[in-house]
Amino acid sequence: MLVKQFKTLTVRLYQGDITKSQAEAIVNAANPQMIPGGGVDGAINRAASLQLAPLQKSLGPIAVGEAVLTPGFNLLAKYIIHTAGPIWHGGDSREPELLAQCYQSCLALANHHQLTSIAFPAISTGVYHFPVQRAAVIVYDVLKSLAAQSTSVQQVDLVNFDARTAQIYEAVFNENQ
Ligand code: ADP
Repeated sequence: MLVKQFKTLTVRLYQGDITKSQAEAIVNAANPQMIPGGGVDGAINRAASLQLAPLQKSLGPIAVGEAVLTPGFNLLAKYIIHTAGPIWHGGDSREPELLAQCYQSCLALANHHQLTSIAFPAISTGVYHFPVQRAAVIVYDVLKSLAAQSTSVQQVDLVNFDARTAQIYEAVFNENQ
């Protein structure tokens, strides 16, 4: 695990399964239709409850970059924050800005609910094909600016499922100060 301190904000990076996270809220890389799919969305739905899918669907559609909250059901996490990441189309369709918005929307919602900890997967880097390195730099920048703001969030976990994503994230967070 790599731990980075941004002022009073603690950021932890590790390889693992986000459904096992003990953070107060975990983030789901959902889609705008809010129809449970594969990847992390499928894993979260399997681990949370069969009750999640109908609730998730009832909250859609959402805009790319927007975030909504549901209970965590059987997860250790009390809440699931669902956000729709951008599909990578080459980088000229506002993908970087929209990915930053996903993280910002989730963090704003966490603050709104006075949560102290939140765990994120690598949004958009799976079937949406956002380049992992560029995504990691965006996440780094969002968290650095979060630390300069007033927020209830004290700990952010970046939970990467596969070794390659975990390594790229670690490298980016180690390189930047
Ligand atoms: P997107 O459609 O936003 O690209 P995906 O679910 O396809 O979403 O992938 C996003 C990231 O989530 C990928 O890095 C994928 O490996 C990862 N992932 C898949 N399952 C899990 C899990 N259980 N915990 C954490 N990350 C996961």
